[in-house]
Amino acid sequence: MRGPAWKGWGQSIVIAGLCLAAGLLAAWSAIGQQQLDPLAYDFLLRLRPPAARPGSAVLVAMDEETLRAYGNMARLRPALATALEVIAITGPRAVAVDIQLADRDDPALDQRLSRALETTPNLVLATTLVENPRTGQIDWEEPRAEFSRHAALGHVHADPDLDGVSRQVLLEKVAGAGGHSVRRWALALETFRLASGSGHIVETEKSLEVGGRAIPASRGEQRALRIRYLPKGSLERISMKELIEQSALASRLRDRAVFIGVTVQGGPDRLMTPLSYGAAMPGVEIHANLYETLARGDFLVSVSNLVTLAFAVGLAAGMLLCFEFLAGARAFVLGFALLAVAHLAPGLLFLDNRVMPISPPAATAWCCFLGLGSRHYLLTRSRLRVAEAQRARYQQAVHYVTHEMRTPLTAIQGSSELMGRYALSDEKRKEIAGLIHRESRRLARIVEMFLSVERLSAGELELKRDPVSAAEVFSTCVERARPLADRKQIRISNNFRNDQAVLGDREFLEYACYNLITNAIKYSPGGTEIILEVERAGEQVRLSVRDHGYGMDEQEVRRIFQKFYRTRKAVECGEAGTGIGLALVEEIVVEHGGSIEVESLPNQGSRFTLVLPRAAAPVAQTAPSAT
Ligand code: ADP
Repeated sequence: MRGPAWKGWGQSIVIAGLCLAAGLLAAWSAIGQQQLDPLAYDFLLRLRPPAARPGSAVLVAMDEETLRAYGNMARLRPALATALEVIAITGPRAVAVDIQLADRDDPALDQRLSRALETTPNLVLATTLVENPRTGQIDWEEPRAEFSRHAALGHVHADPDLDGVSRQVLLEKVAGAGGHSVRRWALALETFRLASGSGHIVETEKSLEVGGRAIPASRGEQRALRIRYLPKGSLERISMKELIEQSALASRLRDRAVFIGVTVQGGPDRLMTPLSYGAAMPGVEIHANLYETLARGDFLVSVSNLVTLAFAVGLAAGMLLCFEFLAGARAFVLGFALLAVAHLAPGLLFLDNRVMPISPPAATAWCCFLGLGSRHYLLTRSRLRVAEAQRARYQQAVHYVTHEMRTPLTAIQGSSELMGRYALSDEKRKEIAGLIHRESRRLARIVEMFLSVERLSAGELELKRDPVSAAEVFSTCVERARPLADRKQIRISNNFRNDQAVLGDREFLEYACYNLITNAIKYSPGGTEIILEVERAGEQVRLSVRDHGYGMDEQEVRRIFQKFYRTRKAVECGEAGTGIGLALVEEIVVEHGGSIEVESLPNQGSRFTLVLPRAAAPVAQTAPSAT
């Protein structure tokens, strides 16, 4: 029992392992990492956006109206200067200008802008990374010195993912030419630092600290921070034109971080975001959203790869236990529950601001569910088939045995009735008593055989392991079978000059040999010869019964060990039989650790050989004899 059970477990563990590997491989493929995970992340982000309360950032938009009123993009500096003058009076916490101020314009205008920038409190100007067309090196394009004299600098790269959607920003970027590299923090982070009155940013391996707030942006992940985008329309936005024309609007900027930038439709600085619903978001709005994330301290932290892996392994183990220990529909119901857990876990973790990619648990759960579920289904189906076949065989057996019992029973019934009703002569009475005796013995043999087969196959019979003389076993069987042989004038010769000791149970071995000898008698024509042989073959002993009887063809030989199978010739020759004798012989031999061999040719005879383990103990010599 133990062997097959462990074998089954081993197979399940291998399948679960393969499914786990396949699931993880699928999860870490382009489809998992670049399509499924971002999709699920965006869905969760939209499902649970931050509260739409008045934020600490406000957007001053250089929009279409501003452009119409003050000229094209290249000529926006006067408008920017005016707006800054208005903003400076209101007392904002910080002002971030997401406009490139690297080039020179009209000197008078530039002078005015530089004066306005100088009077702006806590100012942060944008700097970007550009490639030097001559050297091919990446370097910072900084605002002109006259503008940035009193300003901090922050990079404005929104770092979109491979699908072009901006989900996170690398808070730190380092670049530089000529062997000296310059590091810049993100525009929103610098604005937050100034707005919170913090002098500097404290760096640790795991986080950045600004004004007492720990920002979970680890060095290992390039200081990446996920942006918690506000619901559409909840970031306050004022048109620059309106701000300039209606100075009352300026009061809305008091004590807030002001983000100034171009928001015109179709402008160059736009990116898709998880909440942009098809319309790209201006860069300045992305930075303002990042600022809101920082100001609210509403951070999303990635679950470590190790935890994700452990969860996937746990799911695979859960599926393994579920399909190994539960039967039928219950296994599938629990399997579905585990699938649901795999899909819901990232969502539940999200409620706790933790981000786990969905594809490793989901792909693992699906692979294990399909792999182990299919195995479970196929095993259940095959077990059902075996059970059905067993039931059918059992029914057939019962049918056969009852059918076989009917003949002797009828004979016994009829004969006993005759004896009771009529005054019979002593001779007749003796004859009928003999008939009753024979038929009742036949009946007992059928029942005994049937029960023995069942008990042996159910493992209820214990075999002894004693040294048994093969010659003695044969001799005992010949003695018992002699009346049958005599009736058909069949001669039984034995050829066991060198007797051998077999390791086994004498009673069962006698049963097996008797069966072979009586079969040889039953299925041979009268006047033929049966030869019994014993020979040693290495550590085994071969006991064979050879006849010159009806024999069998190949197909018949293949089926004779099936319970209740009888060849057509056997049925036609009129010899009584149950078709279970050889099934029992085979069971006995296998239980002894041996095997049975059959050679047979139609109308030429058969040779049945029992190959049994040899016992080391010596046995007494038996002289050859002929009957
Ligand atoms: P039974 O003899 O009661 O029918 P067995 O299980 O002993 O059942 O044998 C199964 C069948 O194998 C027999 O019915 C017969 O058809 C075939 N068989 C067995 N032994 C021989 C033999 N020595 N020669 C030919 N056929 C045999």
